[in-house]
Amino acid sequence: MPPDGILRPGAVVIVGAGLAGLSAARALRSHGYGGRVVLVGDEPHDPYDRPPLSKDFLAGATSIEGLALGVPEDRGLDLEIRTGVAAQALDPGRRAVRLEDGAWVGGEGVVIATGARTRSLPGPPLTGVHGLRSLDDAVSLRAALVPGARLVVVGAGFVGAEVASTARGLGVDVTVVEAADVPLAGPLGETFGAVCAGLHADHGVRLLTGVPVRGLSGDSGPAGPVRGVRLADDRWLPADLVLVAIGSTPAVEWLEGSGLDVDRDGILVDAAGGTGVAGVVAVGDCTRRFDPWAGRVVRQEHWTAVLHQAAAGAATVLGRPVVPLPPHLGVPYFWSDQYGVRIQFAGHRRPGDEAEVVEGEPADRRFTAVYRRDGEEVAVLSLDSPRTFGRWRRRIAARAQPSG
Ligand code: FAD
Repeated sequence: MPPDGILRPGAVVIVGAGLAGLSAARALRSHGYGGRVVLVGDEPHDPYDRPPLSKDFLAGATSIEGLALGVPEDRGLDLEIRTGVAAQALDPGRRAVRLEDGAWVGGEGVVIATGARTRSLPGPPLTGVHGLRSLDDAVSLRAALVPGARLVVVGAGFVGAEVASTARGLGVDVTVVEAADVPLAGPLGETFGAVCAGLHADHGVRLLTGVPVRGLSGDSGPAGPVRGVRLADDRWLPADLVLVAIGSTPAVEWLEGSGLDVDRDGILVDAAGGTGVAGVVAVGDCTRRFDPWAGRVVRQEHWTAVLHQAAAGAATVLGRPVVPLPPHLGVPYFWSDQYGVRIQFAGHRRPGDEAEVVEGEPADRRFTAVYRRDGEEVAVLSLDSPRTFGRWRRRIAARAQPSG
């Protein structure tokens, strides 16, 4: 608890200077909030965008400056951005946060936007083993992606697949290992997960599925270079570098003991970002919430969802009503770029939904498929068909009622 009088009055503190944090700061100002807005981030960088880290930035086509989320208009917002300092504790009663330098900030409201960190495999640290979440991760991975290097990607989700694609374009020898039988079967279903996974083979990337990794090995002790990956079926994949892309865990350890409803899948919030504590909201990848499209509580980790959550959270922390989204923006949406193909998905697929190709040919990697449940359109997937995708996205928004 901060000692009495140590807080300067009238600040909303936003913890996490990523997409969610900066978006919440802008939204506070757009609501006319005139007090101090303090944006605190533990990374040494100003807010930057993450999707290019596995795509253009990793390929060398975008510079560090090109990742900046800040725009010239932000200068007029009078934000106090404090980088390179972590929040260590929350005092919900006082709406205040203790920083690692001992300072307390807040007083009027707290927006938690601390995102997530990469999951790693158990075992001693080895050089040449990478994760990809931050700009520093991407800089380090990019330096290692030299032509002819042997890269093993563990995990064929979106980040793993995008890195495989970018690395292949840089002349790297790539093998992708996936524990599930079909990559991306969760979000896309088996048929279309397999179609997307086919992009790897199209571009000379080996994909091994249905086989977990037993461990990573080096040959000169814990800090030595990685030599390869041992699979559960005893196969050995020699590697000069390894990307571990097996998902993320929310960065919420600093909230232990705060009284918020926090577990290993994030902070539980309502649709408006409310945590149950007045003046304390949470937004972005660190949160889990009931998703009427999925019919359950989920932690979404998609760029577009983060924007909407940040806008709602900013209204809530100020005690203002949340402006409902236009219907087509209320539909969950994500995209991925792999091997020059844009994958777009909107809605939510559940086991048992039936999918039908409504335009194009999966074999051409250019098509649109629509998912139906009880005859109702509930989701759409497109590869390289943005116009058709947009039409179906709006149609699904207009027709489908999330069933809860
Ligand atoms: P983050 O971006 O993780 O920001 C949180 C910030 O808080 C971080 O800077 C973190 O270091 C900081 N922080 C953590 N703890 C503390 C603390 N205690 N004190 C202070 N600061 C703290 N989505 C798509 O829809 N399409 C894509 O193609 C796509 N590509 C992606 C590619 C990559 C490589 C990654 C990593 C993500 C991608 N995403 C994509 C997901 C999207 O980028 C995320 O959903 C989004 O960045 C989440 O924003 P956030 O602000 O909630 O969290």
